[in-house]
Amino acid sequence: MDVTDSRAMSDSIRTQRLVAADLRHVWHPFTQQQGWPTDDPLVIESADGIYLTATDGRRYLDGVSSLWTSVHGHRVPEIDDAVRRQLDKVAHSTFLGLTHEPGIELAAKLCESAPAGLTRVFYAGDGSSAVEAALKMAYQGAAQRGEERPLYVHVEHGYHGDTLGAVSVGGIDLFHATYRPIMLRTEMIGSPGVRRDGQSPADRAVEVVAELREVLARDGARVAAVIVEPLVQAAGGILTHDASFLRGVRAACDESGVPLIADEVATGVGRTGTMWACEQAGISPDLLILGKGISAGYLPLSAVLATEEIYQAFLGRYDEFRTLFHGHTYTANPLACAASIANLALMESRGTLAHARWIGEELGTGLKPLVDEPGVVEIRRVGTMTGIQLGFADGSPFPSSLRTGFAVAQAARAGDVILRPLGDVVVLMPPLAIEADDLRLLVDVTMDSVRRVLADRL
Ligand code: PMP
Repeated sequence: MDVTDSRAMSDSIRTQRLVAADLRHVWHPFTQQQGWPTDDPLVIESADGIYLTATDGRRYLDGVSSLWTSVHGHRVPEIDDAVRRQLDKVAHSTFLGLTHEPGIELAAKLCESAPAGLTRVFYAGDGSSAVEAALKMAYQGAAQRGEERPLYVHVEHGYHGDTLGAVSVGGIDLFHATYRPIMLRTEMIGSPGVRRDGQSPADRAVEVVAELREVLARDGARVAAVIVEPLVQAAGGILTHDASFLRGVRAACDESGVPLIADEVATGVGRTGTMWACEQAGISPDLLILGKGISAGYLPLSAVLATEEIYQAFLGRYDEFRTLFHGHTYTANPLACAASIANLALMESRGTLAHARWIGEELGTGLKPLVDEPGVVEIRRVGTMTGIQLGFADGSPFPSSLRTGFAVAQAARAGDVILRPLGDVVVLMPPLAIEADDLRLLVDVTMDSVRRVLADRL
């Protein structure tokens, strides 16, 4: 046995030990633990650029940006340095009653880049916790203006996170129906991303906006906010809609005096080819929620950006108790803020938004040959956010027991690409720094994996 063999052997033994310990102790998110042992768990050890390296020694292209977060890839010298420099100062200090430079600097930068009118930054930790804060701001803000508004309007197939407020405004039965008995009060409108045969995206937008107008005409005075995912309902299956939907929603909200919450946790920070998806519709929400890519896939950070009008509703003397009684322990963590500042600086110096638009076009062209394959129902994409919907020719789904999307991801893994599907929607969401050769590899491996799996299904 030579040195390479013995290293491979010790890597394999270590992997087996780690997997055994994982199976003994860990409960993974969104994972059916009963099937997990046979899903061939992969233990990630390190990363370089857009590649993840596992303990088996193999390198895998990070095809979904580590759950839609990675912007410039992993171990980016400028971001690593920013985090290290901050580590030499302080890793964490509370934002409750104290402040710090990275939190202040990042807030100013976010307001500069945000759609017009968003002037205040409230930090949270994950997307879900920011959604909670936004829902509470809308309700409490109204209450402090003397209005009782206990209802939220949300969109079918929408997803805003897994905490209970966020689940209340979710519209994916598989994730959310179980919890309906313990939910906030809501009204759900249809999804602008789900169209009848032959219906245009613009016609569907008109239809759903009309539905919203009906709800607001009936209940508008009791609605705290309307919450939408602009341009792409991401976790709902990369369901895309026409920008006119957002303009219609904005107009309907304005007419009934209801705040609009744009959840840009998935779509923000360049994923759709612009910094914020709302820009493509030319609208500004009253509250904008961001997360995921803001800290470039380094550390948990999210925020709610608010208008001055909403912010003002919380001002008052101490003993009037108009304070937003909300805040998380690691809110505005300085390391995460430092990573975010470096991320935004790099996005500017590297022209990341233009590059994201190029990635989107390449994905569109590259995946075109799949469009007419039997078993591919539709390919949906806005900017870099791409979903390949698999199913029967009439659009009906494959039996879920077949786990077709999962099978495609496993096939891609054999080709050294990591994908994570949403049911039978194969999702591609590469880091915004991906270059031509890697993008070609991602597209080729994805197409090959889809074809091989479909050959077994049809
Ligand atoms: N909102 C949207 C639109 C999301 O896509 C997600 C996560 N996929 C969330 C909120 C929740 O974010 P987190 O997982 O960071 O709590």
